[in-house]
Amino acid sequence: MTEENIKTYEYKAEMKQLLHLIVHSLYTHPEVFLRELISNSSDALNKVRYQQLTDDTLLDKDKELDIKITLDEKAKTFSIEDSGIGMSLDDLTEAIGTVARSGTLEFLQKIKEENKNSGDLIGQFGVGFYSVFMVTDEVTIETRHANKDSKGLRWVSSGEGNYTIEEIDKKTRGTKITFTLKENAVEFAEKFRVQEIIKKYSSFADFPILLGEEKVNTVEALWRKREKDVKDEERNEFYKFITKDFEDPMAHLHLSLEGTDVSFKALLFIPSKAPYDLMQNRLHKTVQLYSNKIMIMEDCKELLPEYLQFVRGVVDTSDIPLNVSRETVQASAVMAKMKDVLVKKVLQWLKEMSEQETDKYITFYKQFGPMFKTGLNSDFMNRDKLTELIRFETSTQEAGKLFSFKDYVSRMKENQKDIYYLSGDSREFAERNPNLEYFKKNDIEVIFLLEAVEIFVVPTIPAYDEKPLKAIDKGDIDLDIGNKEDKKEDDNLSKSLIDLFKTTLKEKVEDVKISKRLVDSAVTLVVKDGGMDHQMEKMMKMMGQNIPEAKRILEVNVDHPVVKNLSRRYLANATDGLLEKCIVQLYESARLIDGDLPSRIDYVKRMIDIMEEATK
Ligand code: ADP
Repeated sequence: MTEENIKTYEYKAEMKQLLHLIVHSLYTHPEVFLRELISNSSDALNKVRYQQLTDDTLLDKDKELDIKITLDEKAKTFSIEDSGIGMSLDDLTEAIGTVARSGTLEFLQKIKEENKNSGDLIGQFGVGFYSVFMVTDEVTIETRHANKDSKGLRWVSSGEGNYTIEEIDKKTRGTKITFTLKENAVEFAEKFRVQEIIKKYSSFADFPILLGEEKVNTVEALWRKREKDVKDEERNEFYKFITKDFEDPMAHLHLSLEGTDVSFKALLFIPSKAPYDLMQNRLHKTVQLYSNKIMIMEDCKELLPEYLQFVRGVVDTSDIPLNVSRETVQASAVMAKMKDVLVKKVLQWLKEMSEQETDKYITFYKQFGPMFKTGLNSDFMNRDKLTELIRFETSTQEAGKLFSFKDYVSRMKENQKDIYYLSGDSREFAERNPNLEYFKKNDIEVIFLLEAVEIFVVPTIPAYDEKPLKAIDKGDIDLDIGNKEDKKEDDNLSKSLIDLFKTTLKEKVEDVKISKRLVDSAVTLVVKDGGMDHQMEKMMKMMGQNIPEAKRILEVNVDHPVVKNLSRRYLANATDGLLEKCIVQLYESARLIDGDLPSRIDYVKRMIDIMEEATK
């Protein structure tokens, strides 16, 4: 520092502390220094690009807009040069030499300590440049502002107490940053390593990044173009590039939003197939978050709720700065706003698909339904929209075909007030369930809930289109829609037989009733009014939930031959021992169908006793 024109400037007191904080806390991966430097260069190029449009006197008016990175593995040096706007003496002392805003240090310290929501404030300071001190002990900036009468300047600092600035002879506009790498950061002088980082973070920077002679970033920022200017092929390539998927996506959504709260551009995709790790959210990648074309998060799970995390793609906003920690970004209010908007847009996207491209929507639903459906249980704000979007098999329609509530309602009987559903573990089980007999006979459609998430979630939807949802294995359902039939309710014989059922089964059942819903089967078990769905109860038990066994109502079909025979036998001899055996066997058969037989051994023994009696 002997030369006369070198001036030494003192860092403000907080600078040293701030540097310490940045290097040790805000950034967890030293490689991000490169992202920050490319981002700064990209900003500088953006500024000059704009000025070129408005100011003819600009230095090097027709100079190529690009970023050049030069590495020397032997000398362990790194340099990055751009032909951007450059910096004046004021810029160097203001922007680089001081912390952008007073209070930044305190603020960052607080964020670090409390790790809490920093709100919109994070946008108010710039500290990215200093991340370079994670990989070097001394930095040189050579820069010249794009104003014609500017001078070349050299800034040197070790990021501790002070920095120096001197005038130099620099012919061209722009900024060159050079440094020697620390021993533990020499990897950043290796071409492959640097290439890898650039590809990861800056593939879509809008300016060429040259590593030596080679252009490293090849993919354009498609999401910044207008949708109609992007070819399908290009878009698909982009999708495959960012997701490493081999197949083209099923659908895409191109968004450009200018809001008062938040503005962003996005290019989102639904893969054509659900990846194997989809339900294990920790592994599955979702959306990449960019700040002005520079990636800040490779997998930003905070942008979409869990049930929509099958969506892949890019979200790019200038409302989130590059230079704060991941935790801070995740907790910011900007993120929350973007998430709200994105959820609405994605649901709208799916709605349009479901209306305009029904087959495609069903393909989507078959792939991603298991994840998507869980939204009904977690996103109460959008419940109505989600209710429109779920699909089911139903009793009157072909197996494997899926329908909406809307479809169901359009096919409802004239005097039908409720929407009926039946839970089961397979279509076959549902179809052969005795509780369905009445509905089959009267051609009343019943929705089948065949998957765990439906069985849990659908019963919590009170109504669709003002029509209440009712499980058909509930005691209180309205069975007067179909053809009325005289079920001999006042038949005294039937009544005394029902009483015998009651005294025989005692505590095993809540009640015994003459059934109106059975056609072919002799008995069925139904849940008492307001009781929990039996299938749901079973699943909760399987999941280890400690819930008391709910007693159910046994309904008896008094027109069934077996029941008629029992009545006759009862009339002949009320204490006939076979009666009790048959009653218990009928009751346990209903439980066997539901898969919760109390004892197989007792059941079989009783059956053999009855057979013995019958073959006497
Ligand atoms: P931020 O980029 O968030 O403002 P930085 O600490 O990274 O924070 O940079 C501080 C400022 O230094 C920038 O806002 C910009 O004015 C200036 N600067 C940094 N790098 C360059 C560059 N390559 N060309 C021109 N100006 C730059």
